[in-house]
Amino acid sequence: MPAPILPSPAPVPVSAETRLAYVLQHFTLAYPGAQAVAVGYPATRPEVEIADLSGDFFNEINPYPPAPCWREWQGQQVPFFFDNSVENPLLIFEKHKVFISADIISAAFYLLSGWQEYFSSERDQYQRFPYAASVQRSYNFVMLPVVNYYFSVLKTAIEHVGGQALALRRWGSQQAEFAAFISHDVDRLHSAWKAPAKTALQQGRFWLFGQRLWRHLTQPDAWDNLEAVAAATAKYGAKSTFFILPSAEKALNGTPNADYPLTTALWQRFHALRQQGCQIAMHGSLGTATNALKLRDESEANYLVGGLRFHYLSWAPRYTIFVVEETGFRYDSTLGFAEHVGFRNSYCQPFYPFNFFAGRAATFLEIPLVVMDTTLHHPAYLQLVPEEILPFLQPVFAEIRKFGGVATVLWHNENFDPNNTQNGPQQFHEIMGYLQQQGAAFLTGHEIAEEITPG
Ligand SMILES: [Zn+2]
Repeated sequence: MPAPILPSPAPVPVSAETRLAYVLQHFTLAYPGAQAVAVGYPATRPEVEIADLSGDFFNEINPYPPAPCWREWQGQQVPFFFDNSVENPLLIFEKHKVFISADIISAAFYLLSGWQEYFSSERDQYQRFPYAASVQRSYNFVMLPVVNYYFSVLKTAIEHVGGQALALRRWGSQQAEFAAFISHDVDRLHSAWKAPAKTALQQGRFWLFGQRLWRHLTQPDAWDNLEAVAAATAKYGAKSTFFILPSAEKALNGTPNADYPLTTALWQRFHALRQQGCQIAMHGSLGTATNALKLRDESEANYLVGGLRFHYLSWAPRYTIFVVEETGFRYDSTLGFAEHVGFRNSYCQPFYPFNFFAGRAATFLEIPLVVMDTTLHHPAYLQLVPEEILPFLQPVFAEIRKFGGVATVLWHNENFDPNNTQNGPQQFHEIMGYLQQQGAAFLTGHEIAEEITPG
């Protein structure tokens, strides 16, 4: 089947009005009770007046703005892009008006929209935008949801003018301060035996190899464990979201997709998991991030609709937004950096990515990915020892809690294998215990989308 014709990534200037509307749309989602206060640039004489400091940046195609200025806000050093006046206080209060000295609208738009990855041509071996090419890496702020700090500045200004305190979004029936989204990409169900068997063979321990092969042929694989995974999350009152990979064909470059076929027996198990409240969603195979027809074929033929995450966190910044819009998914949860824990769009709440071609917010919700198990312990990524994992994550979870965000955790089912003592079940349970103790509302991807846009 031929690949569909994709629109070319021609630069489309993004007007100040568009940027402002996009950012305020998200501010209102973060602070649902926000009253109507005029926010804007000096020309419109608004009540909250933002310094207009982006110049021609959004009419051009430079992926990176000038270096940010650092200011303290809420006891934290925060980078402010489009700010050239650190000698001025950030907020200047008058009786019925507030001036904001940094262009936080442009800065929020820049980070939230994914401007850097759209206009940068840096890609890694999987055609992803690399963390190494990001402003988060250049200025070392990937663990800080900077856009949420900008919104906190804006909130202070709006409260001054509106005379009314604004409250952050709360989550779930218990109105929790933050949410946790526990998800599992199901890449492999039958391969736990392979690595130990191969080692035995390489070491010439044929008896051991034979034993492993026999066990493989006669017993369920240690990774064929979806029910155990659901039970492990249920211990904390959580319901798992499983992203199922319907393609078992290798990609053109030989990278594997699933190691299992979608059999009737497997579907019966998915059905039972759904009955328990788990969500069964779509894991887009390699190639689908740039191919709407293939993605639609794989998802609709297998009734894997509603929620999506791409295998290998594949995301082609210039194309994938169209692909996801075209196929009608309600939410995606791919956007995190594989290389590092934290916030790829510097935002800890669900958001609508920006469709640069159409010049508007995308039609699907992004529930940004914050923590992936493989990121924590991998030769190419972070190399944390088991005792370092939870302490490393705690400040990130604290930021999410502070701003009413979603702690999206990806723990592959294969990493519930008790033989994994690096980023395995023990580390998962430590994270879950901590999130529970911090008062997270555990929600499936579907439930999160439902809270943002009911329907
Ligand atoms: Zn995967």
